[in-house]
Amino acid sequence: DSTPGDPLTDSRSRQVSGALWSRVQPTPVSAPRLVAFSPEVARLLGLDEDALRSEAWVRVLAGNALEPGMVPYAANYGGHQFGHWAGQLGDGRAIGLGELRTPDGGLLELQLKGAGRTPYSRRADGRAVLRSSIREFLCSEAMHHLGVPTTRALSLVATGDSVVRDMFYDGHPQDEPGAIVCRVAPSFLRFGNFELCTSRGDVALLKQLTDYTLTQFFPELGAPSKDTYAAFFQEVARRTARLMAQWQAVGFVHGVMNTDNMSILGLTIDYGPYGWVDDFDPNWTPNTTDAEHGRYRYGNQPAIGMWNVERLGVALMPLFEGDETLLHAGMLEYQRTLNAEMLARYAAKLGLSSLEDEADVERVNACLAWLGEEETDMTLFFRGLSRVVLSPTAPDAFPDVLREAFYKPVSEPHLARGLQWLTSWWQRTRREGVEPAELARRMDAVNPKYVLRNYLAQEAIDAAHAGDDSKVHLLLDVMRRPFDEQPGRETYAARRPDWARSKPGCSAL
Ligand code: AMP
Ligand code: MG
Ligand code: MG
Repeated sequence: DSTPGDPLTDSRSRQVSGALWSRVQPTPVSAPRLVAFSPEVARLLGLDEDALRSEAWVRVLAGNALEPGMVPYAANYGGHQFGHWAGQLGDGRAIGLGELRTPDGGLLELQLKGAGRTPYSRRADGRAVLRSSIREFLCSEAMHHLGVPTTRALSLVATGDSVVRDMFYDGHPQDEPGAIVCRVAPSFLRFGNFELCTSRGDVALLKQLTDYTLTQFFPELGAPSKDTYAAFFQEVARRTARLMAQWQAVGFVHGVMNTDNMSILGLTIDYGPYGWVDDFDPNWTPNTTDAEHGRYRYGNQPAIGMWNVERLGVALMPLFEGDETLLHAGMLEYQRTLNAEMLARYAAKLGLSSLEDEADVERVNACLAWLGEEETDMTLFFRGLSRVVLSPTAPDAFPDVLREAFYKPVSEPHLARGLQWLTSWWQRTRREGVEPAELARRMDAVNPKYVLRNYLAQEAIDAAHAGDDSKVHLLLDVMRRPFDEQPGRETYAARRPDWARSKPGCSAL
C-alpha cells in the first residue's frame, strides 16, 4: 500500500506479519435495536438486564460506542479450508472488545460479529445478516443448554442497515437486514492462530502465543517447557475428541470444520451453515458448498476432528523440537478419547451406565446401523426409548412411540429387525439394577426432546424478516430447557415437516 494510514487502526486489507492481532475500530451502524439477549449470559457477566436494554449498552453491542477500557481488535489467524492451507484469514468481521471480569472472578471476552471491516476482511464487507445472526445467537445458547461446550451469545442487535448477499436460494444478490451478535467466551483462539505463526517460520511468535495460552487457559499444566507443550497438545486433542462425541450424540453438524473454526479450548465456535441431522443420515451436510464431497458431513466429523488436531500438532512441532513422538502421542490421545467418549455417550443414551462387553458395543453399533437404514428422526427415536424402558415387559410389538420417528412408512422386515433389537436391549436394561422410572429419568436427561431443528430457526428468521421477533424469543426460551417436557410446546419437538426436507442450512455469511 503506497499510503499507509495509522497501522493500529487502518482497516484496509493487508497481510499482517509479526503480530497476532491488529487494533481496529467498529464501524457504527445507523439504527441499532436490541432484538434479543440471553439472560444467562448477562448474569454470567454480571450485567443487569435493564442496563443491557439501555440505549447506552445497545450502542456498545452495535459497535457504535465503547465502554471505558475497551480496546477493540481483530485477531490474526490462518487456516486449512476444506483440506488446503489458505494462508492468512483472520477476523474479517469479528471485533474483540476486550475481557470483562465476571462476578465469580473469571475473565470473559466480548466479541462483536459483523461490526465492520478489519485488515482481515479481504474483499468482503465485514458485516453479518440478520438471518445468520439469528442462527448463531439461538444455536450458541441451544448448544450450551444441551451441555455442549460452546462460545456463548449475549445479544442480537439489528443494525438498521442493509447488507447485500448472494443468496443461494434464487441466485441473484439481495438486500438483507444486517445484524450483530455479541459473542462471549474465555477466548476465541483457534488452531489457525498457531498454524499461521508456524507457516511463516515465526517460532518466536508461536512460542509467545503458546506460552500466553498455557498461562491464561491451561495453568494446571505448569510452566512452559517441551513437556508442557506436549501436555497442552494432548489436552486440546482430548477436548476436541470429547466435543466431537458430543456433537455426534446430539446430531449437530458444524458444516465448516476448517482449522480456523476449531477452538483451542475445545468449544463449538463459528456457527455458519450448521444443521441438525433430523433423520439419522451419516452422509448429510448442511453446507451446500460441500455437498459434492461431503468432507464435513455428519458421519465424518470425528475423522475431521482428528485431521484438524494433526494440523495443530504439526504447527506446534517447533516447540516439540521436532520430536514426532509428541505429535503421535496427541493423535493417540484423540483416538483413545474419541472411542471412549462415543461409547459412553451412546451407552448413556440407551440407559446403560457403561458398556459391559463386546456384546454391548455390538448393541450400539447395531442400533446405529438400523437407524441409518430408513429415514428415522434421531432425536425422536432416542427420546422415545425412555417410554419403552418403562414398560414392565419386553415389547411384543414395535412401539407406537417410536413409529413417530419414521419419516416414511417402513417395511415389516425393518420393523421386525427393530423389534428384535429393542427386545434384546430392553432385557439388557433390566441388568442395570435400577428402577425403570429412574432409568427413564436418566435417559431423558441425555436424550433431548428439543433441538434447534433447521426449519424452526428458519421460521423464526422468516417472522423476524416480517418484523416479528417473538419467534426468536420463544425459540430461545424453548431451547433453554431441551431435556424437559414443556407442555403446550410439543410442536417444537415434532418431526421436521416435509417442506423442510433436505433444506440446506443458510450460508455462512
Ligand atoms: P468462515 O468461513 O465464516 O469461518 O470465514 C472464513 C474467513 O472469512 C474468516 O477470516 C472470516 O472473518 C472471513 N469472513 C467471512 N465473512 C466475512 C464478511 N462478511 N466480511 C469480512 N470477512 C468475512
Ligand atoms: Mg470462521
Ligand atoms: Mg463464519
